[in-house]
Amino acid sequence: MATQTHAENVDTVRTSPLFRQQALIDGRWRAAASGRTIAVDDPFTGETIGTIPDLDRQEAQGAIDAATRAFPDWARRPAAERGALLARWHGLIVDNRETLARLITLENGKPIREARAEIDYGASFVKFFAEEATRALGETIPPPAPGRLLRVEREPIGVCVAITPWNFPNAMLTRKLAPALAAGCTMVAKPASQTPLSALALAALAQEAGFPEGTVNVITGKASMIGELVTSSDVVRKISFTGSTEIGAWLMQASGATIKRMSLELGGNAPLLIFDDADLETAVETAMIAKFRNCGQSCIAANRIYVQAGIHDRFVAAFAARVRALKLGDGFDEDTDISALIDEAAVTKVNEHLDEAIAGGATLLAGERGSGRMMPPSLLSGVRQDALLTREETFGPLAPVIRFERYEEAIALANATPFGLASYLCSTDPQTIARASRYIESGMVGINTGLISNAAAPFGGVKQSGLGREGSHHGLEEYLNIKYLCQAGL
Ligand code: ADP
Repeated sequence: MATQTHAENVDTVRTSPLFRQQALIDGRWRAAASGRTIAVDDPFTGETIGTIPDLDRQEAQGAIDAATRAFPDWARRPAAERGALLARWHGLIVDNRETLARLITLENGKPIREARAEIDYGASFVKFFAEEATRALGETIPPPAPGRLLRVEREPIGVCVAITPWNFPNAMLTRKLAPALAAGCTMVAKPASQTPLSALALAALAQEAGFPEGTVNVITGKASMIGELVTSSDVVRKISFTGSTEIGAWLMQASGATIKRMSLELGGNAPLLIFDDADLETAVETAMIAKFRNCGQSCIAANRIYVQAGIHDRFVAAFAARVRALKLGDGFDEDTDISALIDEAAVTKVNEHLDEAIAGGATLLAGERGSGRMMPPSLLSGVRQDALLTREETFGPLAPVIRFERYEEAIALANATPFGLASYLCSTDPQTIARASRYIESGMVGINTGLISNAAAPFGGVKQSGLGREGSHHGLEEYLNIKYLCQAGL
């Protein structure tokens, strides 16, 4: 089969039945009554590829109302029935893997192989929580007094809101929506305006799977209006947000008056520590995945690569060879490793980090400054410990290597940040591994691997990286309240 051009790929996606340009509220697909829309761009060309409704406050409120009406019936259904619907939804996602992956590449720009990996990852949450639905177990507690029965039951929280980012437009939604539905909650989801189409396609498949009207709603519109609406709502019991620390902090503050449960997956500034005794090949592979996956646009991306003096030069040489071999290109091409970043501002930020590091004495060993939305995979060595890119999330395919001498120095550098999402370390010494993973302040530690995310594991951060966990049984707990029952007279 001849390779399709970019324009042909765009057309294929746009003519798919999963290409939805309306919001889903109460089981119905709707445009804004005002007719107003928000344009969605193809990051590779900058061209508009679709539009979504710019809903007003009343229309967005309609989704909260629908989720409120749907909740009592959904919450009372047997968990096995909710799990069966999730399993059906999972089956439909798997059947439509290629279309959903192409939709991600279209609206987010990421390489198609990474988009397929995201669909698999996103679908794994639906499968995991389809099974986990039946495991929201209660407890009995030995009573402190005779004739008493003390029980703990777990109940769904109620109407939940998911606010998701553009970097994983499919998986960031499934890992919120699947546990919420499994627990018996109903959901109003607001995807990022840059990448809403993946969420709408997932909603179309959820509808096809047979979730009752109002259990799954996806709304689009001005983020600030929706944020204000959902935080001040009396009936929204929980907000699960993935995005910037700045917006997460605002959502938490704004929710204060109505006392909501919050899950916040916020910014990271992940360190990768490579110790002298690391296996070189493992260290390079860890760095490649931890830094360049998703074009570096991941909150768990290795933002700072600290390498001990004894292995430093060998590591840098081997890493540089791998970085130079990465292919920059159109996300739809099968052999592309790095493609367009989400917008021009993203490239500007990477360029700023690169320029500042070079001005501070760093050496560019691979890549170059980016232009437009394309940022070549790049590697800097000799980066100063106080460079801008050690303090801010670069969120792009630029790897900085910083040399260190002593173990204590590395731990102190790793922890010198208000963030604490992921961290990585490479070593073959059990003592170094045990000590470093204990003293690093982060919610997750990758040890001799850059690939840590999976549906069975608790994803989340400490410090200003957020609250709560997604995935694993902890991810289900986020959507459950504890009810304690004390019965006397037995
Ligand atoms: P990023 O820098 O990754 O775009 P943001 O925190 O700005 O991160 O966006 C993450 C999500 O939060 C997106 O869905 C965005 O539309 C939404 N968002 C942005 N501002 C607000 C707000 N004031 N209230 C609610 N959601 C918001």
